[in-house]
Amino acid sequence: KMFNEIQELKGNIRVYCRIRPFLPAQREKQTIVDYIGEDGELVIANPSKQGKDSHRLFKFNKVFGLAATQEEVFSDIQPLIRSVLDGFNVCIFAYGQTGSGKTFTMTGPNGATKETWGVNYRALNDLFELSQSRKSALTYEMGVQMIEIYNEQVRDLLSNDSSQKKYPSIHPSYLLTHSIHDFSMSIICFLDLRTLGILTQLQPNGLAVPDASMQPVNSTSDVMEIMETGLRNRAVGATALNERSSRSHSVVTINVRGKDLKTGAALLGNLHLVDLAGSERVDRSEVTGDRLREAQHINKSLSALGDVIFALAQKSPHVPYRNSKLTQVLQSSLGGQAKTLMFVQLNPDVNSYSESLSTLKFAERVS
Ligand code: ADP
Ligand code: MG
Repeated sequence: KMFNEIQELKGNIRVYCRIRPFLPAQREKQTIVDYIGEDGELVIANPSKQGKDSHRLFKFNKVFGLAATQEEVFSDIQPLIRSVLDGFNVCIFAYGQTGSGKTFTMTGPNGATKETWGVNYRALNDLFELSQSRKSALTYEMGVQMIEIYNEQVRDLLSNDSSQKKYPSIHPSYLLTHSIHDFSMSIICFLDLRTLGILTQLQPNGLAVPDASMQPVNSTSDVMEIMETGLRNRAVGATALNERSSRSHSVVTINVRGKDLKTGAALLGNLHLVDLAGSERVDRSEVTGDRLREAQHINKSLSALGDVIFALAQKSPHVPYRNSKLTQVLQSSLGGQAKTLMFVQLNPDVNSYSESLSTLKFAERVS
């Protein structure tokens, strides 16, 4: 019975696929997409094979085809995002090779307008507006953090100073409670539920990176300003913006504290919005030095993320959060009562077939 109760705490993972359209500059428009079903089926065709072995079926919770708009995507995930105001922790991230549309989905294109805004802008704006509309019953405080994880180092994207705050560290209690948590999960069958309750309380529901700047959101224009500062700081120090941003993970954290005016009850929720580093395989024989180190860090953190989600999807009693900075930062919104959504991004081009296939295999493992 106890084991079942522990299992109840886990597993709330959705996997969506989004296929970006061909870009105007792309001349040859040969696609790997063969069929998109209403219920999340996706059939892709191997361009170098014939016959029945050439097609493969993948199953998602949902597939957004080449024509899906930013608004359509957002309206589908809006209820999930809104649950943060009820005290849930939510994590949404975009996975895929460089050029597959991760940044487009999460942030939008360069110089995005209201119509092309990605999930980050829309989520922040929607949460702010909804929190205002509940004002008569509940008051909310909203704050935003924005960090980048590059080579297993955390960088604060909203910091104005160049001091140590620029490289905040992960809260030590996170590391400690996680080891207690991991350990306890392996022996929990011998303990009683009260112990589990205590351990759950030990898990901080708040901030994984407490020293990173927290910008309050008091108006819609604050939303714009915060996003712009983050994007600007992401570019600083990078030789080529796209190069660098495709090799780091960016994490926007929206922290919500609510108070019920009648009962005085408090609630705490957070939303992590993650634009992951490009998942493309780097040929070890071709890169050395910094480039190799980057590739190893990306590889390590994406597989650590895959392992965590796989463990959660399998309802495994041991979830290996501690293997990367990324999974440590996201821990509060992966597993437990938290809700997780992964966008699996695909480039439709036949030339990206093998990368798309490895992206789909990653997704298959966790869904
Ligand atoms: P990634 O972040 O995965 O490297 P980007 O988001 O930068 O990929 O997308 C690569 C290019 O494709 C960009 O020029 C982007 O504007 C465009 N793009 C991506 N997704 C879409 C989409 N759904 N609709 C229109 N253009 C898109
Ligand atoms: Mg990108």
